[in-house]
Amino acid sequence: MTSQNTHTTPLTAASADPYAAFRAELRDFAERECPEALKAVVRSNQKVTRTEYSGWQKKLHARGWAAPNWPKEYGGTGWDLQQRYLFEEVTAEADCPPQYHHGLGHIGPVIMHFGTDAQKERYLPRILDGSEWWCQGYSEPGAGSDLASLKTSAVRDGDHYVINGQKIWTSHAQEADMMYTLVRTSSEGRKQAGISLLLVPMNTPGIEVRPIPTIDHWHHVNEVFLNDVRMPCANLMGEEGGGWKCAKFLLDRERLSPATVPRLARLADQVEALLRERGAGAGAARASQHVLLERLYLAQAGVMGAREMLLSAIQEEMQGTLASSKSSALKLFCSELSQQIIGIALDIAGPQYAARLVDTVAPDGEDATPLRQLVHTYLFYRSRTIAGGTSEVQKNVIARDIFGG
Ligand SMILES: Cc1cc2nc3c(=O)[nH]c(=O)nc-3n(C[C@H](O)[C@H](O)[C@H](O)COP(=O)(O)OP(=O)(O)OC[C@H]3O[C@@H](n4cnc5c(N)ncnc54)[C@H](O)[C@@H]3O)c2cc1C
Repeated sequence: MTSQNTHTTPLTAASADPYAAFRAELRDFAERECPEALKAVVRSNQKVTRTEYSGWQKKLHARGWAAPNWPKEYGGTGWDLQQRYLFEEVTAEADCPPQYHHGLGHIGPVIMHFGTDAQKERYLPRILDGSEWWCQGYSEPGAGSDLASLKTSAVRDGDHYVINGQKIWTSHAQEADMMYTLVRTSSEGRKQAGISLLLVPMNTPGIEVRPIPTIDHWHHVNEVFLNDVRMPCANLMGEEGGGWKCAKFLLDRERLSPATVPRLARLADQVEALLRERGAGAGAARASQHVLLERLYLAQAGVMGAREMLLSAIQEEMQGTLASSKSSALKLFCSELSQQIIGIALDIAGPQYAARLVDTVAPDGEDATPLRQLVHTYLFYRSRTIAGGTSEVQKNVIARDIFGG
């Protein structure tokens, strides 16, 4: 059973499929336009560079497919629910990279919803063509799950804000051009009410980025220090003190990443191929293989369930009725599922790999065997249940939505 071949909805039912021509067009584009070398990087779960992401985004842009989830008036495709999902599914199956998400999936929709005309005109086109990269400056030491406790301050000085403070775990800060960041503009009243969202060019004097080494040896995350950073008030998103509303709007969309489910399906297929090729661990009994296959089939069933949940969440997002609990449930389920699937891969690799996890990771740029890359992915995926809000925090959001409070 491979998850690619198990869909039973009209999305893939060939005979009466109204999307058959669209799917073929997508597949043809993915096969023709995505360079083989880049597909090899994606297939082997290696790190995709900014240049590679941007190159792919430029091709999508030229084809009019830069933003599958944006409305047409902002340069999006205006696609319906099925088309959006099919795009993600076909590009994942063809080993194209996912699109860089901080602009298209996170701050872009916030700018469309809360931004001024000048901000839309300034920022959206460069997100679409992939020329400007964003990062997210939300978390601080002491303000992760309890984000509203953030302390980085922005004090008005004429028509500027002066920002002082520290952000942490800022993914891609080392290569981003812009950071959307939450700052405290007031300490009066409820702590959420004193938070504002600012758009900050990363080359502004007073910004220092320091890398944080991670267990997988890749450079993802950073500390960002802001010392007397002067920012024009025109870079405020929405109203002063209205940042919490923007932040929640953004997080609901961050947790509902349309690319996640097809990528999980692809990973499960890869793990199944590995299992069939290698069997369970070196010298393991044949019975172990059956146990691993059973675990994999359960995970694949989970992927199919996640797909249904994702489709209904995208539909609600399109109708403006998306509940935070649904995005959180999806994030919770998919991040845990990704760890289960890659955990099976590690069990296939065998105890000798598990015992020397860090030693088996190939450093950046080094040629690596597929097995080593799976071990690498195992380490990287440990962060899946933390980044974007921990599993415990997602459970709290779901419980609050259901029980109130
Ligand atoms: C790889 C990676 C990339 C990241 N990228 C970014 C980024 O780009 N931008 C950004 O702003 N942040 C980013 N983060 C930060 C991430 O959002 C935070 O790590 C996360 O929100 C948890 O916050 P914390 O690390 O401060 O842990 P804490 O909030 O201190 O939590 C510690 C533990 O306590 C638990 N806990 C805390 N509060 C509760 C509660 N109320 N109920 C139950 N349990 C609770 C948590 O679940 C966790 O297990 C990233 C993190 C990682 C690992």
